[in-house]
Amino acid sequence: MAYSYQHKTLHCGQVSLADIAASAGTPCYVYSADDILERYHAYDQAFGDHPHQVCYAVKANSNLSLLRLLAAAGAGFDIVSGGELYRVLQAGGDPTKTVFAGVGKTAEEIEYALANKIHTFNCESEAELELIDGLARKHGVTARVALRVNPDVDASTHPYISTGLREHKFGVDISEVEAVYARAKRLGHIALEGVSCHIGSQLLDTDPMMETVDKMLALVGRLRSNGIPIRHLDLGGGLGVAYKPQDKAPSIAEVIGAIGRKVEGHDLEIMVEPGRSIVGAAGVLLTRVLFRKQTPRKEFIVVDAAMNDLIRPALYQSHHEIIPVEEPCEEQRMLADVVGPVCETGDFLARNREMPAVLPGALMAVCTAGAYGFVLSSNYNSRPRVPEVLVEGATWRIIRRRETLEDLIRGE
Ligand SMILES: *Cc1c(COP(=O)(O)O)cnc(C)c1O
Repeated sequence: MAYSYQHKTLHCGQVSLADIAASAGTPCYVYSADDILERYHAYDQAFGDHPHQVCYAVKANSNLSLLRLLAAAGAGFDIVSGGELYRVLQAGGDPTKTVFAGVGKTAEEIEYALANKIHTFNCESEAELELIDGLARKHGVTARVALRVNPDVDASTHPYISTGLREHKFGVDISEVEAVYARAKRLGHIALEGVSCHIGSQLLDTDPMMETVDKMLALVGRLRSNGIPIRHLDLGGGLGVAYKPQDKAPSIAEVIGAIGRKVEGHDLEIMVEPGRSIVGAAGVLLTRVLFRKQTPRKEFIVVDAAMNDLIRPALYQSHHEIIPVEEPCEEQRMLADVVGPVCETGDFLARNREMPAVLPGALMAVCTAGAYGFVLSSNYNSRPRVPEVLVEGATWRIIRRRETLEDLIRGE
């Protein structure tokens, strides 16, 4: 557990969140480096001797310092844009351990990735295969490609982050994959060496994932018997984290262990692309209570963080625990909406939440905010984006400074 009360103050590892807030100000994201590395190693070690590569999904949290941390630990990367490749390179990440996903890659992005010799393009359509082949020919190289398969499995998660059903825009329908590989054999500048999939995110039930592994292994067998020399299977990301106290996050060691047993003897390198499960629980958003506001119907806690800083409650109706940084002495509770200053009714961090009673000035931690938090933040309402802090052991440092008012108008 990265976060715990010590002497009645919430700490990240050995560092007091009150100290960080006093110095860095609020709102502010805080991440635990130790927690991130522990989860990365949990993935890596669970594979044991089986050939594998853990490719951290950059989109979950793309701060350069986090990428540098993971690159140094041996991680590869899963990117979804040229911008993410730029970040990986700037962080010293290894492009030859990087896979590129996404339904809408542009020619410019593909050429950038070819020039940097990425490991594999996870290709989402036949038209994209042809585009990659043409650009690879133009540059006199061969592009390694894995078709992203849509396995038609229901991930049972929020509709916006479910991606593996036939009606979704992602991948090539599993029933058409063999024909696509057969037709792609004539493309001379792509090497069809892999298959990939990603059925969705925030999976708390891992049965759909296991069903996917079975379907993909059967597909690999069929492709190989059609003469396509498949060497790697990329199973995507998606393991969930516990946002609510009653949620039970799947154990990384157990899930990867189970996958390892399924793929044993198949002579396949296995790749995974975890994002949320590596960084989600490692982060909090620190915010300060500005006001308590009682209306005839409701009580509101107005805090200094808003939907532009953390959009997950507004976008996905997601739950984040919100806890006081100073452990409350008497258990006085209140029922309130926790809202920010943005001029939208959708600007809430929690609704109808029963929580410890807090007063203006109190510091609060919005928990499990390390993934899809800062990366989805914006300047809406001309609010400067908040700083990010990395805690390593007993020390902490700012890994992205708070934006200034000048930053707000840069480029206009
Ligand atoms: C978003 C995404 C991931 C990461 O998903 P998490 O749920 O954060 O683990 C991995 N692969 C692809 C293709 C993605 O789009």
